[in-house]
Amino acid sequence: MITDTHAHVWWKSFADDRDEVLQRAREAGVSRMVIVATDLESARASFEMCAGKDDLFPTAGVHPHDAEHLTDEIRAEIEALCARPECVAVGETGLDWFKEFSPREAQFAGFRWQLALAKRLDKPVIIHCRDAHEDTVQLVREHPGVRGVMHCYTMGVDELAPYLEAGLYISFSGVVTYPKNDANRAAACAVPEDRLLVETDCPFLSPQGHRGKRNEPALVAEVLRVVAEARGDDPERLARVTSANAARLFGLPALDDPPA
Ligand SMILES: [Zn+2]
Ligand SMILES: [Zn+2]
Repeated sequence: MITDTHAHVWWKSFADDRDEVLQRAREAGVSRMVIVATDLESARASFEMCAGKDDLFPTAGVHPHDAEHLTDEIRAEIEALCARPECVAVGETGLDWFKEFSPREAQFAGFRWQLALAKRLDKPVIIHCRDAHEDTVQLVREHPGVRGVMHCYTMGVDELAPYLEAGLYISFSGVVTYPKNDANRAAACAVPEDRLLVETDCPFLSPQGHRGKRNEPALVAEVLRVVAEARGDDPERLARVTSANAARLFGLPALDDPPA
C-alpha cells in the first residue's frame, strides 16, 4: 500500500487514458492518491474525478504560476471548495522564483491567503517552493501552527530544519531517484520517519529510467523504493509508514493495520 500524495491526474495529457492510468496505479500497489489542483478549473475537475472513489482525494487551491489570475470571485469559489468535507488540503500554493510566471507580489499574496485559509479551515496546506527557500520559510513562520507539506522537496539537508521546526511534512518525488542527486537522498534520510511522504507530481518529474516521458501515479513505487534504499529500510514497511503519515496529515480514513 503506497500513497501518492501529489498527482495532477486531471492534466490534459491523461485525457485519453485516465482510467487505465488509475488502474495501473492500483495494480502497482498505489492504494491512495491525492489529486492536487492548481487553479479553479482543475479544482473542479479534481472534485469531479474523486466523487464516489474511495481511493482518490481532491484538493483546491491556486499554484504560484497562476497567482496573478486570482480575483475575489475565484478566491470565494476556491474557499467554498476547500471548506467541503471531501477536500483534504488547500493548495497547491507557494512561491516559484525559477519560472516566475506570476509577478512576485501576486505569488506572495496568493500564498499568504492560502496559508491563512488553511489555518482557518484547519486543513493542511500543500507548499510548492522553487528557488524560493528563504521567502518560503519567512511566510511559513508568519503563520505559526499551520499544518502541511513541503511537496516535491528538491533541496538538501541544510534547508530542512526550518520546515521540520514548523511541523511540516516533507514529500519526495522522482527527483530523489536521479543518480547525481545524493544531496536530495541525504535529505530523504534526514527527515524523521513520521514526517516523510512520497509523491509523483505527475505528469511531471518522472523517476530515473522514465525521464522525458509522462509520469503517472504507478511510478511512485519507484520513488518509494529509492527512498527506502537510501534509508536502509524495507520498501513495504516504508510504504505503510508513509501511507499512515499521509492519512494523519490529510485526514484520510485510518489504515487497517498500523505499521509496526
Ligand atoms: Zn508544485
Ligand atoms: Zn504539483
